[in-house]
Amino acid sequence: MEAANNTNGNGYGNNYECDIIRWFEYISENAGEVQRETLRRILEQNYDVEYLKKRLGDTKIQDMDACEMETLYTSLVPLASHTDLEPYIQRIADGDTASLLTQEPITKLSLSSGTTEGRQKYVPFTKHSSQTTLQIFRLAAAYRSRVYPIREGGRILEFIYSSKQFKTKGGLTAGTATTHYYASEEFKIKQEKTKSFTCSPEEVISSGEYKQSTYCHLLLGLFFSDQVEFITSTFAYSIVQAFTAFEECWQDICIDIREGSLSSSRITLPKMRKAVLDTISPKPYLASKIEVVCKKLESLDWFGLVPKLWPNAKYVYSIMTGSMQHYLKKLRHYAGDLPLVSADYGSTESWIGVNVDPSFPPEDVTFAVIPTFSYFEFIPIHRRKQDCNSAIDDFIEDEPVPLSQVKLGQEYEIVLTSFTGLYRYRLGDVVEVAGFHKGTPKLNFVCRRKLILTVNIDKNTEKDLQLVVDRGSQLLNKTGAELVDFTSHADIVNQPGHYIIYWEIKGDVEEGVLNQCCREMDVSFVDPGYVVSRRTNSIGPLELCIVKRGAFRMILDYFVGNGAALSQFKTPRCTSNQVLVRILNDWTIKRFHSTAYC
Ligand code: AMP
Repeated sequence: MEAANNTNGNGYGNNYECDIIRWFEYISENAGEVQRETLRRILEQNYDVEYLKKRLGDTKIQDMDACEMETLYTSLVPLASHTDLEPYIQRIADGDTASLLTQEPITKLSLSSGTTEGRQKYVPFTKHSSQTTLQIFRLAAAYRSRVYPIREGGRILEFIYSSKQFKTKGGLTAGTATTHYYASEEFKIKQEKTKSFTCSPEEVISSGEYKQSTYCHLLLGLFFSDQVEFITSTFAYSIVQAFTAFEECWQDICIDIREGSLSSSRITLPKMRKAVLDTISPKPYLASKIEVVCKKLESLDWFGLVPKLWPNAKYVYSIMTGSMQHYLKKLRHYAGDLPLVSADYGSTESWIGVNVDPSFPPEDVTFAVIPTFSYFEFIPIHRRKQDCNSAIDDFIEDEPVPLSQVKLGQEYEIVLTSFTGLYRYRLGDVVEVAGFHKGTPKLNFVCRRKLILTVNIDKNTEKDLQLVVDRGSQLLNKTGAELVDFTSHADIVNQPGHYIIYWEIKGDVEEGVLNQCCREMDVSFVDPGYVVSRRTNSIGPLELCIVKRGAFRMILDYFVGNGAALSQFKTPRCTSNQVLVRILNDWTIKRFHSTAYC
């Protein structure tokens, strides 16, 4: 698809946008057929790799017609988890150059953030991974610009961060998927096409020191404030952490803008210093203006910070669904009356769906599956409702179905076969089919499938926990205090086992209110296993621990110190990681025990 001559602020022409939307409408219309074609391409490329050969034997799957191929493939190749692929990925990491998962050599491995599952995993990363990232970026931009057109010549304030890349034993480059993308040819293409639109140079994105990068992103974003058209990050958490940092560092930023300087105590990395100093120059008038605005904002607890400081910004754009939903309230506070646009759905393993309705509030956003990116299957799952004594698993599941057979309103776990060597790989995400875009399903992200809180027969997912915390924090909000972040832990060491929920709060709250919050959360778990166990006291009273301010920053630092990238960071909503539990307990200042069920 050719980029057009006339641009419209995304750096792509209007014709280009029409082309890419037309392309997506076409493949959506024919999604079932396109999916079979996608599978055929994956198998044609890789039918004789070791993983598939072991499962397909001598079956000449590559010579069959698409329907036959689909049926045979799903009957001969079993569903797989990351554990099944691990021995192959490990051999690749150790330097085995045989065709194990893909015909094309794999030269890079991505680390999934590991903050949702607690353990980082290696996943193959190929050119296809960067190409699809660029493609979904362009597609989503095309849909957004229909609703929120942006000015030609404008800039984007992007809170994006690379983490450090390193070499595996076999010499492959390993790092997070976002880091590989920022280092890829495709990202350079994107930067060149949108060159005049990005506030921060590459040295700021890739510094590896997120606090220093955040300061420079903010400084440059303000330096070019009149030109900023929208503000973005991968996950909403990064924007919230950036503006929280701004509340503390704005005075230094004003000095730097006034003098065209860079605080030597805040920014120590020579490459980043040079790149930023080469970009900025003294702007005393702008600094004074920002100072006046910030003093006023400080008295309003920073409400409406974005439109006040970036008067031409049209929206804030980031992933705001799933575990990011908690940060919506704070984002709305900072964004004032500016729209929040929820970004697309993907994972280190594969991109999945695009938001084709950018004007919808984040709570209502769905993702239209892109049928050329991977071959998708869907395992129908049914949340167990009544049977709390006999069920062993948390969900009851049926046989996987192809994309063309999904049903409206049904929940599924996503399975994918990718161009990067994953075959019938269970992603672990639960989605609901909320509608259709032409012939492709629009998915509502429900939760990670893995149970996060369980002591005995009780089973709660991160979505269940989110709802419970929302209920508890409503009482908190009435006092004017704010829930900054939260996590949980199932304590099974002390008997009877019980749930501990950790809260970091901004503002003063009376102990009586916190007691009520604790009780409210305990009674808000509707899982029958929990309710029965609480009544019989085989699960003890819920414990609410209030941690000191900064505890969750410590957790972020812990993950970043272990190789996670801020761009992909998600606060774990439940943890059994002993280091984390120790941090949380060391930082706990108050404990409450529920009196419900007494
Ligand atoms: P990672 O591969 O570690 O970056 O994390 C990918 C995971 O993040 C997915 O499997 C989802 O659980 C979650 N995720 C990604 N995009 C979204 C989204 N738009 N809404 C909700 N959760 C998302």
